[in-house]
Amino acid sequence: MRECFEIRDTDAGGRIGELTVPRADVTVETPALLPVINPNLDTISPRRMAEEFGAEILITNSYIIHGTDDVRERALEDGLHEVLDFPGAIMTDSGSFQLSEYGEIDVTTEEILEFQHRIGSDIGTPVDIPTPPDVDRERAEDELATTKERLEVAETVDTGDMLVTAPVQGSTYPDLREEAGRHADGTSLDVFPVGAVVPLMNDYRYDDMVDVVAAAKRGLGADAPVHLFGAGHPMMFALGVAMGCDLFDSAAYALYARDDRYLTVRGTRQLEDLEYLPCSCPVCTEHSPDDLRALPDRAREEELAAHNLHVTFEEIRRVKQAIRAGNLLELVEQRARAHPTMLDGYRTLLDHAAQLERSDPVSKGAFFHVSHESARRPEVLRHHERLERLSVPDSLLLTEGDAPRGDRYDDSWRVEPPFGPFPRALSKSYPLTAEVPVRTDRAAQAAAADGVAKLAAANPDADLALAHRGWPADVLERVPDSVDLLDLTGA
Ligand SMILES: [Zn+2]
Repeated sequence: MRECFEIRDTDAGGRIGELTVPRADVTVETPALLPVINPNLDTISPRRMAEEFGAEILITNSYIIHGTDDVRERALEDGLHEVLDFPGAIMTDSGSFQLSEYGEIDVTTEEILEFQHRIGSDIGTPVDIPTPPDVDRERAEDELATTKERLEVAETVDTGDMLVTAPVQGSTYPDLREEAGRHADGTSLDVFPVGAVVPLMNDYRYDDMVDVVAAAKRGLGADAPVHLFGAGHPMMFALGVAMGCDLFDSAAYALYARDDRYLTVRGTRQLEDLEYLPCSCPVCTEHSPDDLRALPDRAREEELAAHNLHVTFEEIRRVKQAIRAGNLLELVEQRARAHPTMLDGYRTLLDHAAQLERSDPVSKGAFFHVSHESARRPEVLRHHERLERLSVPDSLLLTEGDAPRGDRYDDSWRVEPPFGPFPRALSKSYPLTAEVPVRTDRAAQAAAADGVAKLAAANPDADLALAHRGWPADVLERVPDSVDLLDLTGA
């Protein structure tokens, strides 16, 4: 177990954890949002972040501080906590982002880590190479090799009790991301940002983002705190957390406000298009859209930034509560309905159901089957794996109907889409207590048929029969020929 991070609760790949930041003498509960503070211009002051929004941690850019004479001198003299006036933990970025935007920077990993330590940062960052998506493989490999060298340098820099991040790169090559994760995990560094995913999010490539993060997670151990670097839109927090990300940073709250953009968990709205404010935060209860539009630029930007932060922190709390309640994937399903590309992200997440299954609790409140994607959730996968281990009698009826009396079968099991067959004794155990719609869908029937097929494959000598409620022919094709079929609808 990593000393600075402890996992308290899990749901799917998501977890509630505690990140201990020794230098700040603060324990941050994760998933956590780190508002990005520009040291040269703050829309909302760090003090207000802590007191009004409950921010426990923020992130600022040590490269900008390093390059701005007066801020640098004050930071060296008084320390970052004093300069920013923030009581929580402060993470600093290194300038890698500037490297990706402008091509070069003029500090080394040793210099910038020592500088971050000197100005009192609590979590510092080496200068990694943020390789963009879709580059050729040779470049991705070369840059990853450089990033690995920088992490090894970072291990040797004396940074006291400042935590140090180990960014995971590798562009859009899953095997490189996994290898990068494994290498980073093997260092003595503490926090693991998955880097260079911003271009994917800017292009709404949530499917590729999920694949990249899933690959990095395979390399990183389960106990590694993971930062989804640059992911600040509340619409995608549930998805990011379900993949196993613990830290998110938001510059979006301020950048969007500057362009009159209003964040919601279902996407971004232009202030000029809003006739109503669909939010109950202090900004939205005290103003109408017309009031906001009538404000001078600076005041309007501040109010919008405050609203954007309120919905951002609110969503983080909602995600945490969903983990506690065991219904995180149902929240992901809801959020996935906000945009077709988010749905692609969720469907890609379900491609990694086996990976999520490892951290998914065996028992939760209730499984709600609310979309055809629900049929691919880790709980269904786990039940199918369990079917391979259950012992069956010589002859067994699997039925969507009631148990028949005085029949020719030794026993009868229930069949419930999307899970498939199970002994009636398990009816009261999770996830078979699921709430499923009476008007089931083909995906759920197909998953149930796959469950029947698993049971049949594991018990080739058993005499199995399936009584179903009018399953279509293409679903029944998934059931092996050795299983007798009976249509309960009499069709
Ligand atoms: Zn609001």
